[in-house]
Amino acid sequence: MQKNNEEEKMICFNQRMADMSDCATIDTSASSMWEFAGEDASGPGNDQMKCALTGLPTKALFFDRLYRAIERMHRKKDYQYSVLFINLDRFRIINESLGHAVGNEMLRAAAMRLAEGVRKIDTVTWFGRDEFIVLLDNIDNSKNVLRVVERIQSNLSLPFLIRGHEIFVSASIGIVYSSFEYETPHQMVRDAETAMYRAKAEKRISYRVFDSKMHEQAVKRLNMESDLRKAIEQKEFVLHYQPIVDLRTHDVVGLEALIRWNHPRRGVVQPMEFIPIAEDTGLIVPIGTWVLQEACYQIAEYMKEFISDGPFILGLNVSVIQLLQGDLVSETERIIKETGIDPKCLKLEITESVMMDNADSMVPLFNNLRKTGIHLVMDDFGTGYSSLSYLQQFPFDTLKIDRSFVDKLGPDNDKNTKIIQTIISLAMHLGMNVIAEGIENEVQIERLRELNCPYGQGFYFSKPLELEPVKQFHKENNKRLKFL
Ligand code: C2E
Ligand code: MG
Ligand code: MG
Repeated sequence: MQKNNEEEKMICFNQRMADMSDCATIDTSASSMWEFAGEDASGPGNDQMKCALTGLPTKALFFDRLYRAIERMHRKKDYQYSVLFINLDRFRIINESLGHAVGNEMLRAAAMRLAEGVRKIDTVTWFGRDEFIVLLDNIDNSKNVLRVVERIQSNLSLPFLIRGHEIFVSASIGIVYSSFEYETPHQMVRDAETAMYRAKAEKRISYRVFDSKMHEQAVKRLNMESDLRKAIEQKEFVLHYQPIVDLRTHDVVGLEALIRWNHPRRGVVQPMEFIPIAEDTGLIVPIGTWVLQEACYQIAEYMKEFISDGPFILGLNVSVIQLLQGDLVSETERIIKETGIDPKCLKLEITESVMMDNADSMVPLFNNLRKTGIHLVMDDFGTGYSSLSYLQQFPFDTLKIDRSFVDKLGPDNDKNTKIIQTIISLAMHLGMNVIAEGIENEVQIERLRELNCPYGQGFYFSKPLELEPVKQFHKENNKRLKFL
């Protein structure tokens, strides 16, 4: 735990923490960010100590109890307590796609299950948005805390049936144990939130106990977030392009645009580092529009120069958040009109695992996007859990086989080869195209060709390159092909 004032300010939890007088203020701030529309979450209800939306004790009561716990620890030698910071994973997508009324009911139901998972002396409160905090009072040891955490997670893992929707959620939980260093509730909740973010980032681990290194990382992330806000204006993003090739002829049939961030102090930052932050903050919407616009302008020119006839692919990665929060359909229409690019060439790539989180509500969104004339690609296929019925319902025309499968393609990995073979034949039977990602050597090309995989991309052909070098690559590739 750090006590530096400046850092504390940075880590402070926006209005959520700043105002804890009662549920009224909290809910109002929540409605501006999350639009818990249609429901009156703005009053403390009959019982002044209860939140009107969730029925839980108010934040004011929670912080009062936490403050007393901190004080008691300084007086009583054996007294221990713990704070849990709970975030409902994917709640945002549920709220955006199924509507705020469902979101509100979901919060109430989750609140009940949380309250059922703790003892009477413990306090659970809604912190705002998709977050709850829990004070586990007077605990014997850390094992008991972990037992409560596991119970909470198991309670939340059962499906919620809300207005006819069967909803599955999981929770990321940050844990802080009492320590003499803690002097204010703010410090404890802040550290518990930091631990929660760590649990969320690690995906497979659903809870984390706070340690002081996490604080430094949280500060780093906040700095990155604030830099990201300025990056579009400062023109710090660039697009690289990776050629997509015909595996029989090695002819370039398209390009995938991949974003890079030229950070003024840190140098090139890769998308895996900043896209998740852009998604969490909603900044992915303006960034995604920039990508779409920049790539379409650049590649419309490129196609005039290189492609006399025949189809050409421009693959663009889009985030589900752009679909849910942005106006991707009209932005796409506008950019197609402005650049004159043939919409048939545009293939928007969406990662399989993300769309499966809320598959039902995605179908109409995908259909609207398809109406603009563009095509849709299921990216990183094999990493999510697509059910076959969704493959049929989703208007996708291409599957991209994830790099992890191509990576294991060798002379002796029979099981892996069979998986790829199955994906290819599944795609073919559904009338879809297939692109294999991450091809790095000739053995992989050979095997993919034997399996009738038509297209591929990977470092073997070319790494992602800036526009001018990719033009050069295309020219040389064309020249070489003439002599083959
Ligand atoms: P992706 O769409 O699956 O892109 C393929 C990733 O694999 C790229 O990483 C590419 O550089 C890398 N790659 C290609 N061939 C090979 C190979 O042979 N070997 C290895 N080891 N790697 C290869 P990159 O550029 O770091 O992008 C990572 C991910 O970030 C992308 O995965 C995509 O999900 C996301 N991303 C990139 N650009 C954008 C963007 O403009 N918008 C959004 N929303 N996401 C983006
Ligand atoms: Mg992609
Ligand atoms: Mg991919």
